Amino acid sequence: MSSNLFPPESSVVAEVLPSPNNGERRDGRRPDMILLHYTGMSDPDAALELLRARGSDVSCHYFVFEDGRIVQMVPESRRAWHAGQASWAGETDINSCSIGIEIANSGHDHGYPDFPKRQIAAVTALCRSIQIRHTIPAVRVLAHSDVAPSRKQDPGEKFPWRTLYDSGVGHWVKPAPIMNFGHVLSPGNRGETVAAFQKLLAEYGYDVDVTAEYDAVTREVVTAFQRHFRPERIDGIADPSTRSTLADLLANRGRTRTIGARSRSPMLQTTL
Ligand SMILES: [Zn+2]
Repeated sequence: MSSNLFPPESSVVAEVLPSPNNGERRDGRRPDMILLHYTGMSDPDAALELLRARGSDVSCHYFVFEDGRIVQMVPESRRAWHAGQASWAGETDINSCSIGIEIANSGHDHGYPDFPKRQIAAVTALCRSIQIRHTIPAVRVLAHSDVAPSRKQDPGEKFPWRTLYDSGVGHWVKPAPIMNFGHVLSPGNRGETVAAFQKLLAEYGYDVDVTAEYDAVTREVVTAFQRHFRPERIDGIADPSTRSTLADLLANRGRTRTIGARSRSPMLQTTL
């Protein structure tokens, strides 16, 4: 049964502590997304217990402590319960297509500490090891906030996406600098330019309707975008820097690296 002990799927896993909270992936869907979370609780052990408690209805595949220790709770072939109501690139059953990683961090409501280097190194090694077993497109290593922008802000703007990118995990471009001039799109604006901007957000994967009105959803999506890609200022306003960073990401998307089973390099193996 799923709550029984199973062998760890990666050599970076220190311990398997199974969670009964899992099921079949819908229609045999194979995972092609990594979804990163923070626990948002001040006690990591309490967070771990919650994710393993029968009846809590939450779980994830991996849990990464602040000191870098990694626990696996659910086999990668199974559907863990971490995304909740979410959407990306037109898909709404995010749990069926993703592998969920919970990163111990008390979160925005409890001081939001920096992520320790050892913890980030562990998350990076874990993502790379997942990328060896599954083909995860770079653009599908995402934040919980990317797929549920109205409800979630984890892992948040302190998460060092660039560091992961430099090790071959995820998609990133250098954010365009913030300038105090240029055309700003903000809540309440309507028209063609807003529609064109919404279209680009949706093209990248965000769940936003092209309404031609800078509505509440657009603001939430822009906030999530900024947490991930332009963390210097998070205000939900599409300033030129935000729009230009999105354009760069889209332009660069076709050239992103997919590190799958075929690109197993000696460097990769020694890193693991
Ligand atoms: Zn989350």
